[in-house]
Amino acid sequence: MATAQRLMRAIRVFKFGGPEVMKLQSDVAIPIPKDNQVLIKVQACGVNPVDTYIRSGTHNMKPLLPYTPGLDVAGIVEAVGEHVSSFKKGDRVFTVRTLSGGYAEYALAADDTVYMLPEKLDFKQGAAIGIPYFTACLALLHSACAKAGEIVLIHGASGGVGIAACQIARAYGLKVLGTAGTEEGQNIVLQNGAHEVFNHREVNYIDKIKKSVGEKGIDVIIEMLANVNLSNDLNLLSHGGRVIIVGSRGPIEINPRDTMTKGSSIKGVALYSSTKEEFQQLAAALQAGMEVGWLRPVIGPVYPLEKAAQAHEDIIHSRGATGKMILLLK
Ligand code: NAP
Repeated sequence: MATAQRLMRAIRVFKFGGPEVMKLQSDVAIPIPKDNQVLIKVQACGVNPVDTYIRSGTHNMKPLLPYTPGLDVAGIVEAVGEHVSSFKKGDRVFTVRTLSGGYAEYALAADDTVYMLPEKLDFKQGAAIGIPYFTACLALLHSACAKAGEIVLIHGASGGVGIAACQIARAYGLKVLGTAGTEEGQNIVLQNGAHEVFNHREVNYIDKIKKSVGEKGIDVIIEMLANVNLSNDLNLLSHGGRVIIVGSRGPIEINPRDTMTKGSSIKGVALYSSTKEEFQQLAAALQAGMEVGWLRPVIGPVYPLEKAAQAHEDIIHSRGATGKMILLLK
C-alpha cells in the first residue's frame, strides 16, 4: 500500500511577474531527499534582492515554473539521502542555496551547500549568512584581495551584504568606512565594524568622504549600487585602488580616463559563478568568524510566510535598510 504524501505550506510562483505572482499554498508535497540531498525543516529564510529579480523573470537564473523562491534557509535536518555522511536528522544547519526553494516549511539542498549552524547563532541569523556573507567575503578577500591596513568603503553598508562586509573588513584589519541612508542604518553600520559612516542620501557626502581620507584616497570600494555611484567611486580611489561591483540596477556613464592616472580597476562579482573550491574557501573563512565571534548577522524586518509579497515590495522600495530581511516560518 502506497504511503500518503506529506504536505506543507509553501510559496509557489506559476508565472514570472510582480510580487503578487507569489501564492501561498498549503498542499505542496514535502520533497524526499535522495543521494546527496538534505531535507531541512525551515525555521527562517533570508529574503535577498536576487529573489525578486528571479521572480520577475529578468534574471539569468530562470527556474522552471512553478517554483518556490528562497535560497538561504536555516533550520533543522529532517532527513538525508543515502550518500550523505556529514549531516544527520536533528542537526542545526544553514544553506547558501536550495534545490526546492526556501519560502516553504521544508526545503531540499545539496549537502555541499549546507553548513552547520553554531548554537550561539539563532535561526534568523542562520538565514542571514548564506548569500550576504559569502558575497561579502568573495568581494573583499577574493576579488579585491584586501589587505590589513588598507582603507575600504562599503558603499551601501546597512543591508545584508553591507553589514557582513563591515564585520569581515574589520576582522581582517582594514580601516572601514560605510554608508547608509538613514540615521538608524548609520548607527547599525558603526556598531558592526565601521570606523566612520556617511549618509549616501546627503548631497555633499562624497566631499565628506574625500575630506576624511585625504589625498591618499580609498584602496577598496565594495559597491552595492554601481549604476548610481561608479563615477564617484573612481574619483575616490587611491593609486592602484579597486572598485568591486556587488550590486547594480541599471547603466551609468563613466569617464574611462578616471581609471588611467591611478591605475584603478573595476571588477564585478557574482556569487553563483564561484567554483566549489571557492565556496569551500569562503566557508572556511566564515566558519572561523562564527567560532571567533565576529560573524554576527544583524536582523532587520521579519515577515511571516504569508507576507512574502510584502517583503519583496519592501526590499526593492526600501525606506532604509536596518539589517537582513527574513521570513520566519516558526
Ligand atoms: P539590501 O539588504 O536590500 O541592502 C541594500 C543596500 O543598498 C542598503 O545598505 C542601502 O542603504 C544601500 N543603498 C541604497 N541606496 C544607495 C546608494 N545611493 N548608494 C549606495 N548604497 C545604497 O540588499 P543586499 O542583500 O545587501 O544586496 C545589495 C546589492 O547587492 C543588491 O543590489 C543585490 O542584488 C546585490 N547582490 C549581489 C550579489 C552578487 O553575487 N553580485 C550577491 C548579493 C547581493 P539604505 O537602505 O540605508 O539607503
